[in-house]
Amino acid sequence: MTTTTSRESVAFQTALEVIAEVEPTVAAAIGQELADQRSSLKLIASENYASPAVLLAMGNWMSDKYAEGTPGRRFYAACQNIDAVERLAADHATALFGADHAYPQPHSGIDANLVAFWAILAHRVEAPALAEAGVKNVDAMGAEDWARLRRSLGDQRMLGMSLDAGGHLTHGFRPNISGKMFEQASYGTDPATGLIDYAALRAQAQEFRPLILVAGYSAYPRLVDFAAMREIADEVGATLMVDMAHFAGLVAGKVLTGDFDPVAHADVVTTTTHKSLRGPRGGMVLCTEEYAPSVDRGCPLVLGGPLGNVMAAKAVAFAEARRPEFADYAQRIVDNSRALAEALLRRGVTLVTGGTDNHLVLADVSGAGLTGRQAEAALLESGLVTNRNAVPGDPNGPWYTSGVRLGTPALTTRGLGTAELAEVGDLMADVLEATTAEGDSKVKFRIADGVAERTRARAAEIVGAHPLYPGVELV
Ligand SMILES: *Cc1c(COP(=O)(O)O)cnc(C)c1O
Repeated sequence: MTTTTSRESVAFQTALEVIAEVEPTVAAAIGQELADQRSSLKLIASENYASPAVLLAMGNWMSDKYAEGTPGRRFYAACQNIDAVERLAADHATALFGADHAYPQPHSGIDANLVAFWAILAHRVEAPALAEAGVKNVDAMGAEDWARLRRSLGDQRMLGMSLDAGGHLTHGFRPNISGKMFEQASYGTDPATGLIDYAALRAQAQEFRPLILVAGYSAYPRLVDFAAMREIADEVGATLMVDMAHFAGLVAGKVLTGDFDPVAHADVVTTTTHKSLRGPRGGMVLCTEEYAPSVDRGCPLVLGGPLGNVMAAKAVAFAEARRPEFADYAQRIVDNSRALAEALLRRGVTLVTGGTDNHLVLADVSGAGLTGRQAEAALLESGLVTNRNAVPGDPNGPWYTSGVRLGTPALTTRGLGTAELAEVGDLMADVLEATTAEGDSKVKFRIADGVAERTRARAAEIVGAHPLYPGVELV
């Protein structure tokens, strides 16, 4: 009997066999994860599916090297191959995003933000203090100058988007180190429209005078006018930092251009590489020439040794994102998001801002008498994987919440189109209509008989028609 086995099948199957010889439980979990991902209809806005080439670039001996420093300037010997992939990742990234400089070392989005914060502090606070003390580096500072510098580093301000309006924990909130490093204030959205009010933001920035104005979000379903943000930052002498962790794929795919292109307007841009950008789990900083020397000191300032295997995978992912197909993918993400939003609106589901311009939709389920937590659990039981999320001014706080966040990057990678996303919207609405809270519980709920089963069956058919990693068959 002859069988045709794809190269991807051989690669992953063989890898799992090698792993299983040492620890079969790990091999089994990896195999099960593929089965689970394949069978679930994933609407988690921050997740995606990286290509086999990206995944395979991570699983090898590029992980074995230490390479602190930057290409050509390492603290370790024999880093020529790490140099090659890091340079390539950076070159692809600068070309892809039109940035002056790229630093592909951060291990995650949070790490990229930490690098950015410290680079901005180094450039704007530490460098002038060194000049004043007449020394070249902090080791040469006298004890008093050093003490003064440390105090002034701790005395800086950041203005970022509030968590409930869609900002991120790393934009100055107390549970994260950014909120302990900076004195923080946050801007929200207009309660009537749900949109950022740039006039109010300008007035707030003029009053607060931040060192850093942070733009970017995890749960804002509309475009951000980065040109307006730039003007505001310039007026108050702030560095404009954009965290495009969520929407980097839309920037790479040229869906966000002109005033909405963060790289064209910000001093420093941070991102993850695994969300809409569809690369390996990791982070990156892009910046202007002015900030490049400070950003390049991210390791060892706040980062450990770079992950050579992940930088290799970043280079592969960025090469993929430079292809014309990626622009088409990015446009389909947004088309799908709109189709999903329109279907939900037709069914009377309340959406924050009344719709979407990007890859995500934020549904407010409080009108149906549910918390986000109940809606998330009811949808999950019905085969739809979403995550609960606060809505602006959320009375249920960030744990129970009143919203569910939906995103289309992952389903778009699987090849679903607008008709299917409209049907997914209808399925969601069916479940939400059939779900009721038990008493005044924020957690317990019940779904009318048969609805979860019916929805789960249909969701399985929809994803079944769009196989995930179609070349990969594990036995
Ligand atoms: C996801 C996200 C991050 C964090 O990324 P990790 O890779 O999980 O550290 C940072 N900022 C924003 C805006 C995000 O959405």
